[in-house]
Amino acid sequence: MYTLNFNSSETAPEEFQFPKTRRLFKSTFVATTVAACTAASLLLIIAFPIPPINLREELEPGKSSCASRRHCHKSSSSYHKPPSPYLLSVLRDYEQRHKRCEPLTKSFNRSFFQVSSSPVGANHQPSHVDDDDCSYVVFTRPTNGLGNRMLSMSSAFLYALLTNRVLLVDFGPDMTHLFSEPVPNSTWLFPEDSRFGNRIYGSKVDDFGSLMKNNNNNHTAVLANNSSSFLHVNLGYGYDDYDKLFYSNEVQDGLQKVSWLILKSDQYFVPYLFLMSGFRAKLDRMFPDKETVFHHLGRYLFTPSDQAWGLIARFYDAYLANADERIGLQIRVLDTKASPTALVLKQVLRCAQKEAQILPPLATKQNETATKKLASKKTSYNKAVLVASLSSEFYVELKDMFWKRASASTGSDGEVAVGFHQASHEEVQRSNDGSHNMMAWVDIYLLSLCDVLVTSGWSTFGYVAQGLGGLRPWILQIPDTKYGGGETLWGNACRRAVSMEPCFHFPPSYDGNKVGVRVDGEEGGGSPSVVHCEDVGGGLKLVNV
Ligand code: GDP
Repeated sequence: MYTLNFNSSETAPEEFQFPKTRRLFKSTFVATTVAACTAASLLLIIAFPIPPINLREELEPGKSSCASRRHCHKSSSSYHKPPSPYLLSVLRDYEQRHKRCEPLTKSFNRSFFQVSSSPVGANHQPSHVDDDDCSYVVFTRPTNGLGNRMLSMSSAFLYALLTNRVLLVDFGPDMTHLFSEPVPNSTWLFPEDSRFGNRIYGSKVDDFGSLMKNNNNNHTAVLANNSSSFLHVNLGYGYDDYDKLFYSNEVQDGLQKVSWLILKSDQYFVPYLFLMSGFRAKLDRMFPDKETVFHHLGRYLFTPSDQAWGLIARFYDAYLANADERIGLQIRVLDTKASPTALVLKQVLRCAQKEAQILPPLATKQNETATKKLASKKTSYNKAVLVASLSSEFYVELKDMFWKRASASTGSDGEVAVGFHQASHEEVQRSNDGSHNMMAWVDIYLLSLCDVLVTSGWSTFGYVAQGLGGLRPWILQIPDTKYGGGETLWGNACRRAVSMEPCFHFPPSYDGNKVGVRVDGEEGGGSPSVVHCEDVGGGLKLVNV
C-alpha cells in the first residue's frame, strides 16, 4: 500500500515533479511556438481569406496568438450564432480555474497527492472538496477514431463546466500534435511521466460501475462512505447498467466529492446531460439555442495546431477558396459488403442531384441539343466538391463522370462547372498513427469550411465536421441490400438533419417514445429538446423547439 505524507502547501516530492529537462523543453517549446505563431499569423492574415470568428476572439478580443485561432473559423455563408453571454462567463471562470489547477501547479499537486495518501478502502473521513480545491475529469487514452474521441472529449468538457472540474486529457502519442491548447498559456495535457500515469491507471483505483454493482442496495450511501478521491468511470460503447448510474442525479451528488474522475468514453453523451434535472437549469442558460452546444464547445476546444493549419490553409486556398460554392461529401463505408462502391455512388448521386439538388444532373441523349448550346457559353457558376473518404474510388468516379459529361440543367446563362478534390487518400483506417490522425483532422476541418454538407449516417467523423461548421447536413442513409439494392428505410437516399448537433449513439434506455431518464427507478422528465436521431433510431440528439 502506498502512502505519502507531506504538507499540502509544499511542492510534490522530486520524484513526482516533471523531470527538469522536460520542464526546460516545455518552456523553450512554448516560447518558440509563440514566436513562430506570431510570424505565421502575420503571413496568413495577408494570404488567407477566411475571416476570424471564434470563441477565443469573443472571450479575449484581439488576443488570439496562433495562426489557426485568428483565421480558422469561418466563411461568410456559415451558420453562426453567437454564444450566450452566460456561456462566455462560464468559460471565463473555467479558464481561471484551469490556470489555477493545471498540471504541476501547487493546487494540482495538492489534489493529486491527496489522492495517493488516501488509499482506496481506507477507513477514514472522506476528503472534502472545497471551493479552493481543484477537481478533475481526465479524458483517458482513447480508442476508436478521431470523430468519436472529439465528441466524447467535448462531452467531458461540458461535464467539467457543469461540475466545476478541470478537463485534462491523456491522449497517448497519436494525438498530441493535432490541436492547440484550448486555454492559452496553459496545458490540458495530463503529465506524460509514467509515475503519474501509473497512479491514475493503477489497480488501487476503484471502478464506478463495480462500486455500484457491489453495493446494489444503496448506490448513494456507497459513494457517501467511499473515501477514495479517485474513480474510473466508463461511459463508452458497451457500458453496462451499473456504469449508466452515472446519469442519476443522486449519484451525481455523491460524485461531487471525488476529486479525480478518470473517464473512458467514445460517446457524445451531451444530450443526456440535458435530461438530468440537476444540470438542466444551468444548461438552459448556457445554451438557449440547443443546437449550438457542440458548435460552441467544439470550436472552443479544437483549434488546429500550426502544423494542421498549414495543411488546411494550403488545401483550402488552392482548391476551395475561389469557388462560388463549396460542397463537402463525406463518404464513410462501414460495411463494404452491405454497401458496395457502386451502390454507395448511386446513393450519393441520387441524394446530391435529386433530393438535395446541390449537384446538377448530367446530360443524357434526350437533352443533348440543349447541352451543346450550353457548351458554347461561358461557365457561369463554379462548384468545388471536397470528397472526404478513406477510399479514393468515389473521388475518381465522380470526377470522371462530371468531366466527361456536361451538366444538363444550368438555366440559360451557361454551364455549371463542378470540380472534385480529395485531400487525403488513406485507404484504410489505422490506429496509433499520428500522421493518419492528422489527415483525419484536416479532412474534418476542411469539411467544416464547406457551405453545404452531405454526410454518412452513423459517422461521428461527419458529426464533428457539421458541428464545427455550423451546418445541418444531408445525411446519407446506410444502403442496405436487403431493402432491394439501394432502397433505404426512408425510401430516400438521404435526409436533411433536423439540427447540426451530433447524435449520442448509445444512451441509457428510456421510456418508450417519451424521452426521459429511467435510471434505477428515478423519475426522469423528458425534454422536448432531446429527440431521436435521424440516422440512429435509438440515439438521442438536441434540437431547437
Ligand atoms: P466514424 O467511425 O465514422 O464514427 O468516425 P471516427 O473518426 O470515430 O473513426 C473513423 C476513422 O477512420 C477516422 O478517425 C480516420 O482515422 C479514418 N477515416 C474515416 N473516414 C476518413 C476520411 O474521410 N478521411 C480521413 N483522412 N480519414 C478517415
